[in-house]
Amino acid sequence: MLDRLTVPSREKYWSAAMNNLIKFAEKIKGFLDPDEGKRLYEIAKEAALHGPCLEVGSYCGKSALYLGTACKESGAILFSIDHHRGSEEQQPGEAYFDPELFDVHAYAIDTLSLFRRTLQMAELDDTVVPMVCTSGLAARAWATPLSLVFIDGGHAYETVLADYYCWAKHIVSNGYLLIHDIFQDPADGGQAPFKIYQKALASGRFKALVQTKTLGVLQRI
Ligand code: MG
Repeated sequence: MLDRLTVPSREKYWSAAMNNLIKFAEKIKGFLDPDEGKRLYEIAKEAALHGPCLEVGSYCGKSALYLGTACKESGAILFSIDHHRGSEEQQPGEAYFDPELFDVHAYAIDTLSLFRRTLQMAELDDTVVPMVCTSGLAARAWATPLSLVFIDGGHAYETVLADYYCWAKHIVSNGYLLIHDIFQDPADGGQAPFKIYQKALASGRFKALVQTKTLGVLQRI
């Protein structure tokens, strides 16, 4: 029966798998561009060979889908931190409020159930560790070296700064610090992530790699 099987080339196989991943990701609520997701996947796939990855800001699991799939393929795990109550701009009356994410019983935003659904559908329950708390709380007793940290939580300056101080110090040498929503021009978006990106560079402990859209990519020296 082997003659009836068509084995695609390695490149064709990989691009088909990536297209499926992108198609899946596009069904999940979130603010991550497919090119950024693809880059997250590619970096995580290599990084995850050297230790666990961690993201701040799970939301409904769009980035966890890319990072988690890469971790799974590399035999690693992803810690995904979010209090799942939405950031400031996602609260009722604010610009990014999504009524579908509002739990009337708790009278609060709840993205945890959709996040869990994403993990289940993507078969990532054995790869992703959801941490339902603030980034600062999770960091208080943290001691595990990380191969990759993706910061995409709250976008207030103090919040991004705290995430940077909490997690960047745990990145192994040659590991990655990824920061989402980098806008060089204030007309395009908030400046907090970009300021922290510059701060990390100025520390002398990171070098800048090519940016993908608004995804800043730094590598620990
Ligand atoms: Mg973002």
